[in-house]
Amino acid sequence: MVSLLVKNASLMATMDAGRREIENGGICCKDGFITQVGPTDELPESADEVLDLKDHLLLPGLVNTHHHFYQTLTRAVPAAQDANLFNWLKTLYPIWARLTPEDIYISTKTALAEMALSGCTTSSDHLYLFPNGSRLDDEIIAAREMGVRLHASRGSMSLGESKGGLPPDSVVDSEEAILKDSQRLIEQYHDPAPGAMTRVVLAPCSPFSVTGELMMQSAEMARHYGVHLHTHLAETQDEEVFCQQQFGYRPVGYMESLDWVGQDVWFAHSVWVNQEEIDLYARTGCGVAHCPSSNMRLASGIAPVWEFMAAGVKLGLGVDGSASNDSSHLLNEARQALLLARVRAGIEGASLSGSSKPILTARQALEIATIGGASVLGRNDIGSLEPGKCADFIAIKLNRLDYAGALHDPLAAALFCNPVGVDFNVVNGEFVVRYGELVTLDLPSHIEKHNKAAKRLVEG
Ligand SMILES: [Zn+2]
Repeated sequence: MVSLLVKNASLMATMDAGRREIENGGICCKDGFITQVGPTDELPESADEVLDLKDHLLLPGLVNTHHHFYQTLTRAVPAAQDANLFNWLKTLYPIWARLTPEDIYISTKTALAEMALSGCTTSSDHLYLFPNGSRLDDEIIAAREMGVRLHASRGSMSLGESKGGLPPDSVVDSEEAILKDSQRLIEQYHDPAPGAMTRVVLAPCSPFSVTGELMMQSAEMARHYGVHLHTHLAETQDEEVFCQQQFGYRPVGYMESLDWVGQDVWFAHSVWVNQEEIDLYARTGCGVAHCPSSNMRLASGIAPVWEFMAAGVKLGLGVDGSASNDSSHLLNEARQALLLARVRAGIEGASLSGSSKPILTARQALEIATIGGASVLGRNDIGSLEPGKCADFIAIKLNRLDYAGALHDPLAAALFCNPVGVDFNVVNGEFVVRYGELVTLDLPSHIEKHNKAAKRLVEG
């Protein structure tokens, strides 16, 4: 690989331990890793390739900790537009049962195109149904072609309607087949090395779609191989009622009873958690993927972001699946996190004079979207611009209508102003977006393919 010098960025936010922000900053990269970070005049003068970021904001690549790529095929489905989670799922399960391997491949590229253009350099995905011969491999291959770092979660559903679960029996699999495939995927694709482009995660879908037995066996396998565990948890009040009726526990207590807490576990949502449960997350090292747009879209509620941060819970950002967000715009998601935290602060009294209710700042939102997400995924090699870390970064042109009048604080502009597409996105030292255009995919022909697949899937 060639060396890359990035220089003259108007402002560079490093997200390092001191949260340094450097004017006229830049970085040097070689073989996919950052070798130097600092003011441009302290960096070498040349390299194999030089990127001049005059009038740009330079940031670490954003990290997405929860998604369902395949759902880009079922955005804004009329019957699921105005439903809460359980009804939304029941409407969509039969449509998803028609997914093919080609659909998984196409939709992964669509989702990662949106992610890359909105600043994401590492994304997690949670694929939990495998109809008609679909495999996680279809997604991993597509992600490799896109050049975005992937944490591919081998999801699963085994508790069909006939056994008291929510999904129809047609989309659930046998636990034996799930575990066998999980082992195959870990052995074939999981890369534990620093700088890994592909990691595998085990991710039974949710308390209402798998058995406790599968959760425990998945945890045992994950710990044997040193891979992480992920699931949806405490997303809605319906789920809380389900867990109490079926298992005699609140969702977090249920997870604890299954040995599903620890540094290697992260949960999507965690909207309906109390202070005791937040403290348990902090004490045991569980991470949270905060998905504000999805929580608003499905009227699920508002996650206690401030309490997570105050307790020291690892907190990342997730756009969630495109059927409950309808957008995979990660920079926008950081803005939504900032705004939603303030809605909650307002409800709890922040609008009263003299209130000391804390509100989320632009810099805290960016922290969640970068170094926070990295910690949730269990990675210390991404999330900040520091020597030795992966050469994953994004740059946004500042001289634009969206930021006009906001350049007294360019970093805050990226969070407060209209969410824009990034001008550069580099992963592992390779350009995925250059001058605002995707390098690794011909978008017009791909969109045509995607819409054709979506029409077939939804119309049946
Ligand atoms: Zn989800």
